[in-house]
Order: sequence, then structure tokens, then C-alpha cells
Amino acid sequence: RERERLAALTGPGRTADGHAVPLVLNVGGVADVVADAEGVGLFRTEFLFLGRTSAPSVAEQERAYAELFGALGGRKVVVRTLDAGADKPLPFLGLAAEENPALGVRGLRVARAHPEVLAEQLEAIARAANATAADVWVMAPMVATTAEAEEFAAAVRTAGLPVAGAMIEVPAAALRANKLLEVVDFVSIGTNDLSQYTLAADRMNGDLADLLDPWQPAVLELVASCADAGRSTHKPVGVCGEAAGDPLLALVLVGMGVTSLSMSAPSVPAVRAMLAAHTLAECEHLARLALDAPDAVAARQAVAAATNG
Ligand code: PEP
Ligand code: MG
Repeated sequence: RERERLAALTGPGRTADGHAVPLVLNVGGVADVVADAEGVGLFRTEFLFLGRTSAPSVAEQERAYAELFGALGGRKVVVRTLDAGADKPLPFLGLAAEENPALGVRGLRVARAHPEVLAEQLEAIARAANATAADVWVMAPMVATTAEAEEFAAAVRTAGLPVAGAMIEVPAAALRANKLLEVVDFVSIGTNDLSQYTLAADRMNGDLADLLDPWQPAVLELVASCADAGRSTHKPVGVCGEAAGDPLLALVLVGMGVTSLSMSAPSVPAVRAMLAAHTLAECEHLARLALDAPDAVAARQAVAAATNG
């Protein structure tokens, strides 16, 4: 018992019956990396670009990426390519103002008009990857179609990087996860944007928090169908939105078949302890309880009651 309790306080994520679920970090730079992390599941690269009037050079980007990769030794890091757009404007891109920035030219869509920004970023990531031991995966934000995922994967491979993925943040991508997984090596579900777009509720609007809830049945169903697609294609399906750091929801995600959970460092201990206290079969049962619930509040209550949480 004591050994189990200690195992729950440190070490890799796993269920009570030993099913491994890597608990990795969401980071915005090297300062967010903690020593005992299993890796990085979401490296947000915006910090290099925001507030600048000219694009960072390949050499400058390479230095920043190599610093983070170096801090990880041989561990895995999932780099997300630039997620900017009209809501996080980049003066050097000269993007027009938009009525609905969340539905506009953001994320991977910026590469339509500015393919060089993506190509240079991938080149810098590849150079940094070659100079360090880290296991570098690359993914694109705001993918909506299989064709976009396929083009992105081609650009990643052209840059000499071996592992290409797509974030699932748009319902269209979630509904087609099985097709996306035919053209990319993995997907990572961004539940913050996926909730926003599924419920059509602005994630910046606090009055809509009940709709933005990742426990909403529609969001849970989309996540479950992505996990099913991962199982049938034998490819990883991670979650990197805030939902992954909610200990009860983490159990549900694992029960659905999600293969890794990425969260900010302070969330890891509680998620690790919760996982260590439940078997995979228990997680599967909790996932069914959540999916069968009529609404978000009932889903959370059902899972909390079943875990005495
Ligand atoms: C998400 O949308 O869930 C996500 C992880 O990306 P961001 O929060 O950076 O939009
Ligand atoms: Mg997002």
C-alpha cells in the first residue's frame, strides 16, 4: 500500500492496473519545463512571434527550440506550429481585420497566404531537433479538413521531421478523425477550442462558461469518436486542452481510449494520483457513465459519485 501511495506521488502516469498514460506538459517556453516531466505534449510557439514587426529568423527560432529540446534530454516534445491570426495579430503578416477572428484566418490557415512562415518554422524545428536528443513531434493548430492535414504532413516531412500530427479543435476535424489519421501520425485534441466551436460559445466570454464546459455531452461524444478512430488506426490520440488537467475528466478520457494527457505542470500530481487509484476497466465504466448523462452537470456528478470524488 505504501509503495502504491508513493508511486502515485511521482513517476509516470499509469492506472492502478499498470496501463501507461503519459502525463505530459503544456508549455509556453523552457521556463515551464519541470524536471520530472514525462515530456511535453503541447509547446505553444507563439511567444517567438507575438508583438513583433518582423518574423523571427530561422536562426533565432532554432536557438529557442534547441533550448527547450535540450532541457528535455531524450524525452518527447510535441511542437505546435504558430497559432496566431486576426485575434493575436502579427504586424509582419499584414492580415486584414476580421469581423469574427475566431472563425477567420488563424492557426494553420495563416500558411495559405504565408507558406514561408510555416516552412521557416519547420526548418528551424528540424535543425533544433537534429542538434538535440529530444523526440520531436510537430502538429498544426486549427485543422479543419483532411486535405489541410495532408498538406501539413507533407510540409513536415519535406523539412525532414519524421512525425506529423493535427490538433483536433474544430468539430469538422473531430467528425473525420479516422480520415485525418490516415494522413497524419497522431492527433491531439484541444478541448478549449473544440468546446468553443462545438457549442458555438466564445471561450473569452465568461457568461457562457456553462456551455464551454468540456463535460458537455456533445464534446464528450466527439472526443470518444476520436479515441475510437485512434484505436482502429493504432495511432495516438492525446488531449492537450484544459480538460486533461481535470482529475475526474482525465479518468473519463482514459476510459474512452485517449493515449496521453497534456496539462500545465501544477495539474499533474492530482491527475497522476487519480489515475493510480483506478483501473482501466473502472475508467471505461466512468466513460460510459459520462457519455450516458443528459448534460454536463449530470455527467460530472455521475463520475464524482462513482469515484466518491
Ligand atoms: C485548445 O484549444 O484546447 C488548445 C490546447 O490550444 P489553445 O488553448 O492554445 O488554443
Ligand atoms: Mg486551441
